[in-house]
Amino acid sequence: MAVDLTPGPVAAELARRTARFVRDTVVPVEEANGGVLRSDDERRELQAAARAAGVFAPHVASEFGGHGLDMRDRAFVFEEAGYSLLGPLALNCAAPDEGNMHMLEAIATPAQKEQYLRPLATGGTRSCFAMTEPAPGAGSDASALTTKAVRVPGGWRIDGHKWFITGADGAGFAIVMARTSGAPGEAGGATMFLVDAGNPGMKIVRHIETLDESLFGGHAEMVFDNCVVPDDAVLGEVDEGFAYARVRLGPARATHCMRWLGIARRAQDIAVRRASTRELFGSRLAELGMAQQMIADNEIDIAAAHGLILQACADLDLGGPSGHSTSIAKTFCAEAVWRVVDRSLQICGALGVSGDVLLGRFLREVRPFRIYDGPSETHRWTIARRVVRRLDAEDAR
Ligand SMILES: Cc1cc2nc3c(=O)[nH]c(=O)nc-3n(C[C@H](O)[C@H](O)[C@H](O)COP(=O)(O)OP(=O)(O)OC[C@H]3O[C@@H](n4cnc5c(N)ncnc54)[C@H](O)[C@@H]3O)c2cc1C
Repeated sequence: MAVDLTPGPVAAELARRTARFVRDTVVPVEEANGGVLRSDDERRELQAAARAAGVFAPHVASEFGGHGLDMRDRAFVFEEAGYSLLGPLALNCAAPDEGNMHMLEAIATPAQKEQYLRPLATGGTRSCFAMTEPAPGAGSDASALTTKAVRVPGGWRIDGHKWFITGADGAGFAIVMARTSGAPGEAGGATMFLVDAGNPGMKIVRHIETLDESLFGGHAEMVFDNCVVPDDAVLGEVDEGFAYARVRLGPARATHCMRWLGIARRAQDIAVRRASTRELFGSRLAELGMAQQMIADNEIDIAAAHGLILQACADLDLGGPSGHSTSIAKTFCAEAVWRVVDRSLQICGALGVSGDVLLGRFLREVRPFRIYDGPSETHRWTIARRVVRRLDAEDAR
């Protein structure tokens, strides 16, 4: 299918306003805080400013106070939001809340939408998504899920161990994947549960120190010990959790790519401005061939990543199979964004690794993207398997 490379008129205007808001309001806060915001009051202040600028919640349906953009239009606005590490937080379209909002819109009951989606969409609360477990549990291979939920009178009891749960600290609720049938290693039998903060059976036992720091709330290790939830805490249908995870993860992969592509563009702008003013060996750095090659390669990576994101968005908007194009976009973007930030830092010389520019921070922030939302190797494995299956099927006809 031909991919339309231009946003619709509403998204084009929203992208313009978002670009202005991020440069004028968010970047100064980001630079003053080294790219990392820790106070909830500051998060709320930024979100209030985004609301006043009319750019808040671009992805959420209008009945929940958002702009209701489809995936293709989101690409243009999220990229502008991602121009600052704090832009997505300001617009309330950062991970993991944005992916959780998408899933709640898709599968929550009307009562669950009122209780969980509405406060999340307005920025009144935050959330987290708890799937990954320490070995031997779920990681790249989600079917290894070991956290269990068993029926008790009036509800379910969840027991298990999760880690790397982004935003868990301070979240109003968690969406928790637990096994309700089958055994670890089997691809069926998971269910999603909505667990309120304050449930005595859900505890954060550690804040994990990581390379990245800008995702609000950090990453937590959690224990579920006799965590009892009522029947209406089940999100969607019992035993359909792996299918719902795909509902969340496909679009979430694409939106992660959009946001990080914004940072790649910012890094390129910083590097090009530096190369245009720095004099070396009798000319501007920007006129020396090897610097030009890095600038050009950055531009090629950015353009290719943008095109692959739009291809994935077109497939997601059509509602048909999108696993192949989201895997291709995710793998390419995660690696391209790293290359762009790394080259940009190189162009800036010692300045690049200093705290005077945020390139070192960007590099630390983008590296884990090659691991979360599926490591590059897992995606390459599934891409290759699909290609082989397709050719096998063609040859068998
Ligand atoms: C910063 C950060 C934030 C995160 N946030 C969340 C969150 O909010 N919620 C949540 O549930 N999880 C979260 N995660 C966890 C993330 O989803 C997992 O780290 C990811 O799924 C990989 O699982 P794992 O770490 O257990 O690695 P493993 O499954 O142990 O894989 C290790 C390595 O094996 C290799 N590999 C994988 N598949 C293949 C293959 N088919 N062939 C060959 N090699 C392969 C890859 O190199 C991979 O890195 C986060 C992780 C990070 C780093």
